[in-house]
Amino acid sequence: PHERVNVKTQMETLLSPDVVQLLKMIGETAAAEKMNAFIIGGMVRDILLGQKGEDIDIVVEGDGISLAEKTAHRFEGTADVHETFGTATVTLPSGRRVDFTTSRTEYYETPAALPTVSRSNIKEDLYRRDFTMNAMAASLHPSHFGDLIDYFHGREDMKKKTLRVLHNLSFVEDPTRILRGIRFEQRFQFHMSKETTAFIHYSASAVSSLSRTRIIAEFQSLLKEADPVQSLARLDELGVLHAFFPGAVWTRQTKDVLKGYLDSPEQPKDLPEWFCILFCLYLTNPDTVKAAEAAAFTKKQKSVVQSTSFLLSLLNEKEWNSLGRFHSCVSRVSDEALFFAAIAADKKQAGFLLQYREKRSKLKPLLNGHDLKAAGLAPGPDFRDYLFSLEQKMLDEEITTRDEALHYIRQHE
Ligand code: ATP
Repeated sequence: PHERVNVKTQMETLLSPDVVQLLKMIGETAAAEKMNAFIIGGMVRDILLGQKGEDIDIVVEGDGISLAEKTAHRFEGTADVHETFGTATVTLPSGRRVDFTTSRTEYYETPAALPTVSRSNIKEDLYRRDFTMNAMAASLHPSHFGDLIDYFHGREDMKKKTLRVLHNLSFVEDPTRILRGIRFEQRFQFHMSKETTAFIHYSASAVSSLSRTRIIAEFQSLLKEADPVQSLARLDELGVLHAFFPGAVWTRQTKDVLKGYLDSPEQPKDLPEWFCILFCLYLTNPDTVKAAEAAAFTKKQKSVVQSTSFLLSLLNEKEWNSLGRFHSCVSRVSDEALFFAAIAADKKQAGFLLQYREKRSKLKPLLNGHDLKAAGLAPGPDFRDYLFSLEQKMLDEEITTRDEALHYIRQHE
């Protein structure tokens, strides 16, 4: 029923000769053992797009591990075998890696029986994948090298620049596919099909079953290659922003805050980018800032959220004009929190915060404990208070020199 499509010529044009050689040899070795080997997934997609794929994924109908070991032996590489998963990674002397998987399905002969692992065919392996464009394979068998295996019409979808899931429970099975979908939409300028978008709406509740680690890992991949503003807008448009990031807000204002962050030359270096980007979606409303604690992963991130929230409430309380007085409330607040409060605050407050941060970072003590003793003060816990109030006066530029500092201290004698 299908027209036969062969991509051998494209493979030979796009892939380097040594990769083509390698693939042919893998196909021959498999055939000699009565097995079938295929390249699969991203590499096939990229070949059809006229691009050179990086990762080589091989699926074997038969014994993937034994084929991997034979390949490693033949090319003097090493095979890293995962017996339980039926997978192996071969690393060639050039450093190139090739992943081998045995195509298999688990089925239950009688209800409640232990699953029987069967050697399934390639079709079932493809059926477990995310989008039709990623669910194609190409045969490496010598007699039909390059034959495209495309049960789900991936090629047709690709011609229409459409991203389509294989079945209606796809996102329920694995909601990280939503983030992958947005990533592929942007990378290839494709668009999810109508049904695919509808399936996303139905599967929003399944997102809560994902671990935060998986969400963050996939979110990071998304940020790495796509425009964060567009990705978040799309998540919101698809109605699943809250499912992934409870409490996050996407409005014109949050978009501006996010842009402020992205354009800032002073982005905090000690926080991961995914966190900073996400935090921006909580910053426009003092009430939602706290919700960002749920998005925080580490102690440091939590503390940045709490301090930022504290700073914003301080700014709301009254208009501050003395850096020194402000210092007495926030001396322990981190630079990162000052940064985020500044991008969330209005212009005037932001100016004040940034000025404070700048001056605080340049604060060099004019005196130390010895100076206080030499000035005749009795050593004790008050020392710290004296030095702190000196800092306050320095921030307000009431004291700028060592002499002024000594003069100020002597008043306390
Ligand atoms: P990239 O170029 O970003 O590596 P890729 O498609 O190769 O794109 P991988 O994450 O390396 O992405 O995945 C390889 C293949 O495995 C995909 O093409 C897809 O067929 C399948 N796959 C990966 N993740 C999933 C998933 N969450 N659900 C279903 N299939 C997946």
